[in-house]
Parts: sequence; structure tokens; C-alpha cells
Amino acid sequence: MSRIFVALATLILFPSVVFSQKYMDRGYRTIQSADARLFVGVLASDSLQGREAGEAGGRMAATYIVSLLDEWGIEPLSDDGYLQPFAVDGCDMNNILAVIPGKRNEYVIVGAHYDHLGIGVAVDGDSCYNGADDNASGVSAVLQIARAVKKTRRTPQRGIIFAFWDGEEKGLLGSRHFVENCSFLSDVSAYMNFDMAGRGPVDNPKHLTYFYTASHPLFGDWLKEDMEARLFSFIPDYRAWDKPTGGSDNAWFAKNGIPIVWYHTEGHPDYHRPSDTADKIDYEKLIDITRAAFLCVWRLANEVY
Ligand SMILES: [Zn+2]
Repeated sequence: MSRIFVALATLILFPSVVFSQKYMDRGYRTIQSADARLFVGVLASDSLQGREAGEAGGRMAATYIVSLLDEWGIEPLSDDGYLQPFAVDGCDMNNILAVIPGKRNEYVIVGAHYDHLGIGVAVDGDSCYNGADDNASGVSAVLQIARAVKKTRRTPQRGIIFAFWDGEEKGLLGSRHFVENCSFLSDVSAYMNFDMAGRGPVDNPKHLTYFYTASHPLFGDWLKEDMEARLFSFIPDYRAWDKPTGGSDNAWFAKNGIPIVWYHTEGHPDYHRPSDTADKIDYEKLIDITRAAFLCVWRLANEVY
């Protein structure tokens, strides 16, 4: 579709978006570095024991995430509460699902896995795999976007579901359970994923790999526009991807034909080691990625694509 056609279609179908800039700004301003430090600091602290799925540390992480959603007035997706329990091979686990309802029976899902590797083989005397970049950074981004959307005090066109997946490190188990049991999958318009959003390669620390479904070039155009307008500190590598079915929780959505966007800052020497700690996160970069992603969520929820 041409940009002019998309703009006209948006104007006709979703006229409120034209007047939404000031509301969007009200949410955008709430995304702050101090909160990213707090969220990553708590989730990646030794007391949460590496947040292994099915273990006490994982349950403590879930309790913390739920307490924030509840405090901000972001309602659970299910009448049964925020937790979506499931089990694989005797291991009980919990996805966390919240929603800001929209005007239509269509949904955008914004997700990140909150589990990590737990307590494991000691490296240099440290056996706690804190998982600050993988993936407390992504959880921080989803939390801040959820609060920012809520703070706009506007009802989006499409409902926005905020998902915190369990069991990713054991094989993408939480996102698989959700997709295989979702009764409204055909009404899901897009999925946004975060998995490692706070570091970067040693030789290119501001790098961001921006994956998106190739049949939706608009997703790339949006970030290009925002890069010019907002002076973000990260350096995006645009990766249009025909079938984005690998790597992380985006896989199960892509396999079902749902277009995806995935923010990923790539590997580093602390990946899957006890040294992936909160003090090594680049918070300026994480916040800029979170802000850029909020702008994308706003469009995914309110525009035609
Ligand atoms: Zn991960």
C-alpha cells in the first residue's frame, strides 16, 4: 500500500488518531530511566535467584510484575486473574497477561519472557544467573509501555495485551501455550517482542537489530521516521524477515501468520552467564528503545497496516 493510501485509510477508519498526538505525548513522557533501573535491579537481583521457570525465584518475579500492573490499574486479561498457569513435564509455570481494552475486537500483543536460567554451574564463584539483559531489560520495556499507554487515558482502537512469558529458556514454552490455547488468535493484528534490549556487541554497543515481518514494510518506515524526529541513541539495523519464526517468542506468532516486530540488541560475553548483571545495562539505550517501541505500539493499536 502507498503511504498516501494508508494515511487516507487511517483518517477515514480511525479519525481519532489524527487528534491523538497530545495524548500520546502524555504517555511517552512517563517512560523514564530511573524506573528501568528499578525494574531491572529488582528482577535481576540475587534474591530472585535467576527467575527459573517453576522455581521460587520465578514465582517471586511473577508476584513483582503482577503487583506493578495492579498498582497501575492495568486489568488482567482473564477473569481468573493475571496468571495463566500451565505445565510441561511436571514443571508448573505461569504466563502473566494484562490488557488495556480497545474499541474493536482486535488486539496487539506486546511481550517479553521474564524467566531466566536460575541457579546453575558456578562461574568465578558465582552460581546465580541474574539475566539482567536476558530478559529483565525486555520486561522493563513492556512494563513501561503498559504504564505509558494507560497514562494516555485514551482507549486505543485495538486492545493491547501485555504478556510476560514463562518457560522461554526451557524452549519457548509460555508463548507456545498461549498461542495454542488462544480463542481469538485470528483477531490478533500484530505481536511485538523484546528479548535482550539493554546491551549490545562489544564492538558496536549502540547496535539494535530491528526485526519485522517483510510483508509489512511500514513497520520499518515508522522507525525510520522516528529516528529522524527523536534523535534516539541506538543505531538500528533494519531486518525485514520473510518468516520470522526463529530465535524467541515471536516464533509462535509468526508461525500463525501474525506480523511481528522484535527489538534485539544481540549477544555479548555475559550472555547466559552469571555476569549478566543489572550494573552492566546501558539504561540510556534501553529507555530509547522503550520509547521508540511505545511509538510503534501506539501506531500498531491505532493505525491501518
Ligand atoms: Zn531471552
